[in-house]
Amino acid sequence: MDNPAAALEYLDRCSKCGSCQAVCPLYGETRAEPFVARGKIFLLKNYLERKLDLSPKMKEIMSLCLLCKACTYQCPNKIPVDELVIQARSEIVRKKGMSFVKKNVFQHFLKNNGRLSFAAKMGYLYQRSGLQWLIRKSRILEMLGHDLAQKESLLPQMAGVPFRNQVPRLVSCREPRLRVAYYTGCLTNYVFPNTGHAVLKVLQEQQLDIVIPEQWCCGIPALASGDEKTAAELARKNVESFNNAGVDAVITDCASCGQMLRKYADFLGTPGSKNFATKVLDFSEFLDKAVSFRVGDRDIPVTVTYHDPCHLRRGQGVVEAPRRLIGSVAGLRFIEMKEPDRCCGSAGSFNLDHYRLASKIGHRKVQNILQTGADVMVTGCPSCIMQISHNLGLNHSKVQVLHLAELISMTYADE
Ligand code: SF4
Ligand code: SF4
Repeated sequence: MDNPAAALEYLDRCSKCGSCQAVCPLYGETRAEPFVARGKIFLLKNYLERKLDLSPKMKEIMSLCLLCKACTYQCPNKIPVDELVIQARSEIVRKKGMSFVKKNVFQHFLKNNGRLSFAAKMGYLYQRSGLQWLIRKSRILEMLGHDLAQKESLLPQMAGVPFRNQVPRLVSCREPRLRVAYYTGCLTNYVFPNTGHAVLKVLQEQQLDIVIPEQWCCGIPALASGDEKTAAELARKNVESFNNAGVDAVITDCASCGQMLRKYADFLGTPGSKNFATKVLDFSEFLDKAVSFRVGDRDIPVTVTYHDPCHLRRGQGVVEAPRRLIGSVAGLRFIEMKEPDRCCGSAGSFNLDHYRLASKIGHRKVQNILQTGADVMVTGCPSCIMQISHNLGLNHSKVQVLHLAELISMTYADE
């Protein structure tokens, strides 16, 4: 760990009260002490005091964290467990290396938009050429085991053309109130272009000039897996590109990207990164605070419930803005679900690395959604949309999952 003394100072704050057990989604499913914050703190303290080694078991336990921050918010001593787990993962990568697959994805694809677009195109062709159908029909993945068939079923429908290739780099209007930049994130770009179009439509309705600068992955997948170096390189590229765009605000539709972009200031510590980070706003927060928001006139007569992405609610403190925006839609009925802020089990690649556990966590979220009787579940994170849609599908549910931007965009008349 970069600063063992500072880490130990946090670890020493644990009073072993056990309050974190009540809110940890992993503990809720496993009842295993090493997975809860208190257990992880015990292990990390012993490692820093040289009583434990970075064994494969330690590596596995550190990989079992959703980085959802629920424990930190519950903890009377406010121990930043997710940050300590990320530090532990970085230490493991420094001392033991990274898996071949992750190393290649992070170092050769995330930093290169051309390669990432090529991989997304291959995914699209795999789905559209009939190869996916053939592989599923042959049941070969089931025979290979390791939950490969289930993990393959998580693969979302890829966009034939990435969102950023479908739209101009500048969408301008007459007498703009502000000039803003849109950070699309990888999932909107390659998987959910409809979300991107909805964000643009809503922003255009607010009379803004919208720039979509050259951009790269925010770096959170690399950082959460312990690859700090790649995350820092991506952060530097994004900061330079967006600062050159000369905008009043940087808007993102992804809770995880938003949390990471705001972290750039501490992560890089440069004046440029601080200037950039202060401009980052979630889509909902921007509409709620930065402009006098104009919702459309159309009634949307549906019952809606809302899931708080961990990285929006606890990561960025955005709680009421999405609810206020939903509440502004005419004809809509809103029902709060039970545990709206409990993690859905997505957590980046957690659902790929630990499919069964993620599905159990996702199942609890689905039950909470279904209990509301809502027709539509709205959220503000493409990663949550993927995980919740997948788990609703496993339950043969007809509940529609929408990004908040998609819901709001429906209120405006078609051009
Ligand atoms: S961050 Fe979330 S998953 Fe990780 S220990 Fe804390 S509550 Fe559990
Ligand atoms: S809530 Fe905080 S102080 Fe209490 S056991 Fe968990 S990590 Fe330790």
